[in-house]
Amino acid sequence: MDEETIEKYRKAGKIAKAAREYGASKVKEGVLLFDVAEYVEEFIWKQGGRPAFPINLALNDAAAHFTPGLGDDTIFQKGDVVKLDVGVQVDGYIGDTAVTIEVGTNHWGDLIRATEEALEAAIGLMKPNARVDDVGAAIQRIIESHNFVPIENLTGHSMERYKLHAGLSVPNVMGEGSGIVKAQDVIAIEPFATNGAGMVDGKKGGNIYRLIKPRPIGGRELKALIKHINENYSSLPFSERWCHKYDKKAKQHIRKLLRAQVVYSYPLLKDVGGGIVAQSEHTVIITEDGCEIIT
Ligand code: MN
Ligand code: MN
Repeated sequence: MDEETIEKYRKAGKIAKAAREYGASKVKEGVLLFDVAEYVEEFIWKQGGRPAFPINLALNDAAAHFTPGLGDDTIFQKGDVVKLDVGVQVDGYIGDTAVTIEVGTNHWGDLIRATEEALEAAIGLMKPNARVDDVGAAIQRIIESHNFVPIENLTGHSMERYKLHAGLSVPNVMGEGSGIVKAQDVIAIEPFATNGAGMVDGKKGGNIYRLIKPRPIGGRELKALIKHINENYSSLPFSERWCHKYDKKAKQHIRKLLRAQVVYSYPLLKDVGGGIVAQSEHTVIITEDGCEIIT
């Protein structure tokens, strides 16, 4: 990576961190999830970045892959455990970061701390030739020492330009990964913990989509929307809310694109045991002797 690329990563990371902190300050009882998602995305644009994916706001037993859809009137309730996950890209270079916030109560402080401590330990292991299996083992050990369960089928991931998942996975348990970290790798590390099953699954969509193949189908309006998605989001995830700003019939058009398998819908992932889920995430760049946290 040249210095210019590293600077773009640093800028994306810095904006993502600020957006995460800004978003966390907006999560309060009675506030619409929809508004927080829109505020944070607007904040990212104003800071000179672009959202790398729609703001994720997963509540309670939901772990990931939910953003408010058009007309969603859900508000944060007292006691909600909220995973705010923010991605920012600068010229395709991504910073990915998440924090867990409990709304108005403090029942899950230890669960949240377990993911924060696990993340810190994982970051401490990040250097060239680190085995991702050792990182997963460290995450698991810390989460279990708090008497919670790591989520075994969610992982951290390496990233490349316009690629959220570039090949290397960083597991949250031991025995699940076989890769080795290299200098200059860009890696998002994201421990998830729960008091439930430690496994997520989902069928229902969470209003987050990705273009599979930009095939021109349908009439003029549909073709224009496909072109818009391809030019603006490339292969990164996008939302119905974003498309609606360009196309007032976005909701029905996206349904058509789903049926034609032009776009993919991410399933909303929940703990299969109905447990409460917490997550912490940072993006790091691997250096010669350790790593630099960019978020
Ligand atoms: Mn994330
Ligand atoms: Mn991530």
